[in-house]
Amino acid sequence: MNQPTLRKDFPLINRLPLVYLDNAATAHKPQAMIDALQHFYADSYGTVHRGLYALGEQATSSYEQARATVAQFINAATEEIIFTKGTTESINLVAAAWALYHLKAGDEILLTEVEHHANLLPWQWVAEQTGAQLVFIPLDGKNYVLQNPAAYVSSKTKLVAVTLSSNVLGPVWAAGDLAVLTQRAHEVGAVVLFDAAQVVSHAPIDVRSLKADFVVFSGHKLFGPTGSGVLYASRSVQGAMHPYQRGGSMVYEAWFDHAIWQDGPQKFEAGTPLIAEAIGLAASVAYLQKNIDWDLLHKHEAALCRELIKGLKTMPRVTIVGNRERLATEGHLVSFVVQGIHAHDIAGMLSNKGIAVRAGHLCAQPLVRALGHESLVRVSVALYNTTAEIELFLRELENTIALFNQLVEQS
Ligand code: PMP
Repeated sequence: MNQPTLRKDFPLINRLPLVYLDNAATAHKPQAMIDALQHFYADSYGTVHRGLYALGEQATSSYEQARATVAQFINAATEEIIFTKGTTESINLVAAAWALYHLKAGDEILLTEVEHHANLLPWQWVAEQTGAQLVFIPLDGKNYVLQNPAAYVSSKTKLVAVTLSSNVLGPVWAAGDLAVLTQRAHEVGAVVLFDAAQVVSHAPIDVRSLKADFVVFSGHKLFGPTGSGVLYASRSVQGAMHPYQRGGSMVYEAWFDHAIWQDGPQKFEAGTPLIAEAIGLAASVAYLQKNIDWDLLHKHEAALCRELIKGLKTMPRVTIVGNRERLATEGHLVSFVVQGIHAHDIAGMLSNKGIAVRAGHLCAQPLVRALGHESLVRVSVALYNTTAEIELFLRELENTIALFNQLVEQS
């Protein structure tokens, strides 16, 4: 992995005088992915699974090849990959197509206190609909680690739906805890869903070793197009799922009064699917497979986090929100607050200097509130970010704080 060379592959990152540090929200695109979209629309456009003509057959073959590429990327079988428009839709699909049919009053859905709204609100809805209860694995807010997760699994637990890495805090699982939680969940017959949105562009995912029933992630965070996402659903759990939407391309037979669903991913991909998006996602996966050494990437991103933490620690009114030691060795993001200055003001002032960071409750409002904050600033890195960018960010943050202090003194 040659990081400076890779950076050149991302046209917008190179073109703008921009320091882009909001990769946990969405990542920029390599030319290879943009070329794949251009090629599909300009040279080989057609719809899938129906056209008995060359363009239709070509599109079907590219779409199904995309499924195979993504499957291989996460060590799944091809028919275990369902294309969605993102993590949010993948989780809502599981809620509507599996949970609504299997949960009832008295059952428990086990979540953590660090979930993104995408892995919280669908389960609130399922709880309302079925009478099931939400149970939360608590966060130790001092060490930023989820406490004794397996202890929260009981005979009532029917679903464990947890994030692999927090979009606010980064790493939150103590070593080995996730495997014990999964094992315990399966022992009581519960189904396990992992939200991999914050992992997939930073570390390899292996659904077999995770032993999950469902794994979800978004393509746009993986250098792919918006509107692309993945739901891995194991063969065994697919048998217990009902269609999510009903329409074209998902039946063996339809009659005036009933229909017989196809098996496999088609059952969950009603209508004309996200063809270009899947092809683009597969191109970004292929780009990563060709160019990325995950160990080197991990070291590169952790080194950037170390620089960040080192700089932030010297700033008197800055408090890092997250486990500094872990972020410095395995992080890809750092969240913080500046006492007396709202996170939105920090982000707005940095934006005037061409620096993009995220500010707010980060779509994890219950967590941010529980940690005693209303709003955080989050800096998140990807493979193309450099030490020089982190240094520039730190300088501009210091200037921003100084300027703000001056303004307050003058007023
Ligand atoms: N889960 C996590 C942990 C996330 O970080 C995000 C995106 N910030 C989501 C879910 C939702 O992803 P999307 O908006 O792409 O559906």
